[in-house]
Amino acid sequence: MPELPEVESIRLGLESDLAGRRIQSVVVSHPRMLRRQHRPDDFAERLAGRRVVSLGRRGKFLEFPLSGDMIWVTHLGMSGRIRTAGPDEEMEPHTHVVVGLDSRRQVRFVDPRTFGFMAVFTPEEHAESTLAALGPDALTGLPSSASLAAALARRSAPIKALLLDQRLVAGVGNIYADEALHRAGISPLRPGGSLDRGEVQALRRGIRDAIAAGLRWGGTSLGDLAYLLPDGRAGENLQRLRAYGREGERCRRCGGTIERTVVRARSTFWCGGCQR
Ligand SMILES: [Zn+2]
Repeated sequence: MPELPEVESIRLGLESDLAGRRIQSVVVSHPRMLRRQHRPDDFAERLAGRRVVSLGRRGKFLEFPLSGDMIWVTHLGMSGRIRTAGPDEEMEPHTHVVVGLDSRRQVRFVDPRTFGFMAVFTPEEHAESTLAALGPDALTGLPSSASLAAALARRSAPIKALLLDQRLVAGVGNIYADEALHRAGISPLRPGGSLDRGEVQALRRGIRDAIAAGLRWGGTSLGDLAYLLPDGRAGENLQRLRAYGREGERCRRCGGTIERTVVRARSTFWCGGCQR
């Protein structure tokens, strides 16, 4: 699933095509992509004719304010991605929404597994949506060590599971939680409330640095290439990961072996040698 560095890389990749542009046409070929819209018929009507004021992001959600006080929200789900293309470029399979701009460029929402969604919300609908429950953004609003420590105090759930909770910090998912914990030298199985002050500080730095590394390389495209940048290039962070996906490989810090375990039904990669 695309996480903060992937969604932010997509946002940056869309900026030159989309910022300030007027939307001319909207074609939806898979209504499931609009399931968060209160009245799915509204979607095309609300989008067409409006100008994209700016490109924003919160956690794993793209949110683009539009002229006329509407907000265009996209979540990429498990396998969603956004392509930009000229009108004559071939439509790839699983293209479910095509938004035509006044530049004749198109923004295409491709999603084989259809867990993603698009919606156009009024400010009131936006305030009542799942976005309202998001915690501070891991890139633009990472909480201080003191606030993180307060949020983790007395929590008995494994720290890995707590990092996936978007109410604590928004944007961290399975890959970057493992990367952050490896960087911090903390076992994913530790109860959140057992981290001491120094460990919470290390975890905060781990989150910051893991997200920054992902972003620097355009995000992590795994072998399935479910995630690609809007121009079709792959993100190049995969070879640079320290823990995620490296079961049986050597730990780059201590020379131990990266193990795989399961925490709350999510694959979790870590080093028993240097993560305590
Ligand atoms: Zn190690």
